[in-house]
Amino acid sequence: MRATSTETATPKLAAEVAHIVATTPVSDIHTHLYDPAFGPLLLWGLDELLVYHYLVAEAFRYLDMPYDTFWALSKTQQADLVWEKLFVEHSPVSEACRGVLTVLQALGLDPRKRDLKALRRWFAKQKTANYITRCLDLAGVRQICMTNSPFDPVERPLWEKGFARDDRFTAALRIDPLLLAWGDTAPALTRWGYAVGVSLSGKTISEVRRFLEDWTRRIRARYLMVSLSPDFDFPADTFAARLLEQAVLPHCRDAGLPMALMFGVKRQVNPSLKLAGDGVGLSRISALENLCARFPDTKFLATALARENQHELCVTARKFRNLHVFGCWWFTNVPSLIEEITRMRLELIGLSVTPQHSDARVLDQIIYKWQHSRQIIARVLTGQYAALQRAGWTVTREEIRRDVRDLFGGAFDRFCRGS
Ligand SMILES: [Zn+2]
Repeated sequence: MRATSTETATPKLAAEVAHIVATTPVSDIHTHLYDPAFGPLLLWGLDELLVYHYLVAEAFRYLDMPYDTFWALSKTQQADLVWEKLFVEHSPVSEACRGVLTVLQALGLDPRKRDLKALRRWFAKQKTANYITRCLDLAGVRQICMTNSPFDPVERPLWEKGFARDDRFTAALRIDPLLLAWGDTAPALTRWGYAVGVSLSGKTISEVRRFLEDWTRRIRARYLMVSLSPDFDFPADTFAARLLEQAVLPHCRDAGLPMALMFGVKRQVNPSLKLAGDGVGLSRISALENLCARFPDTKFLATALARENQHELCVTARKFRNLHVFGCWWFTNVPSLIEEITRMRLELIGLSVTPQHSDARVLDQIIYKWQHSRQIIARVLTGQYAALQRAGWTVTREEIRRDVRDLFGGAFDRFCRGS
């Protein structure tokens, strides 16, 4: 009898979880979007959606023109080609293609006539400020964390000048050139008034720390971050490992900020594809174990691009409370893998995880990335709660709300605060 009542409770539970997951605002902890003060750096609209590098890579599967011929086209022409190849000549079944359709549908547009020009006319009438609010509302996103690089020549001057911040957009300090291309970065730091040499002397380390402190303060960074290729190791006799150990992690510890490590991007597997040319490789999660063990007072955020790294990453999080696992991105941002990875995370590390971030490069993408992920997160959570019901434990609506708030930014905020 008991089993029967549990089974009848399940549809109600599923509906309740789906409703709470659909309506709980999310803090999107990693994107490539920009505060509107950055003007054209904040990408949005149909052509930007179509020339997103995920779609460009897929379009080249069907395109027989030379790479350079494609890159020489205008953005509109590139978008026309992507549309033709991926939406007209074939059905748009991939996750990235479906995402464009989800966005159009959410905006109340009907793409069934395949009339790109009519769709473009609608987007041309939108005003940036209103459109930002509309996208955030439709995505249920309350806060967006940017990726901010002092090494970006377009971005840096505006930070130096200062501007009125839009408080929906928070910042993260990305330091890839510092860790991964020290030979080129040292002269740049010297030009900006930091007395560094190429060898990592005590003076150089303290100047690197001063650079990190200045930029952390200037952009009000929530965390620091780097994207690491599969061959990253720690400890190691590399500039990356030594700079992390001597400058970056001590800075993070003293500033009370996490260091985010994004494992597994194999850079420029096919350089002809430009931004779409990176691949995936298996990372050494042992490097992360070593970092977490060696720096117990430093907080680490970590995500991995390779499906095959996910289990080891979860196990590492079980061993180290100074590690917070987040997100399914790029090649793992497909429904089958999000479902598998999210379930694995909940089963291994419970709710002390941030299951998703959008990684959006185009504002409108937050709509589809969150709509698609929410459906999967709701399904996985319902399964876990139903299993608890079968074990004789019922969750209240308020407990479900609490759990979802944690998954959508609460656990992350608590981890960052260190309480
Ligand atoms: Zn990213």
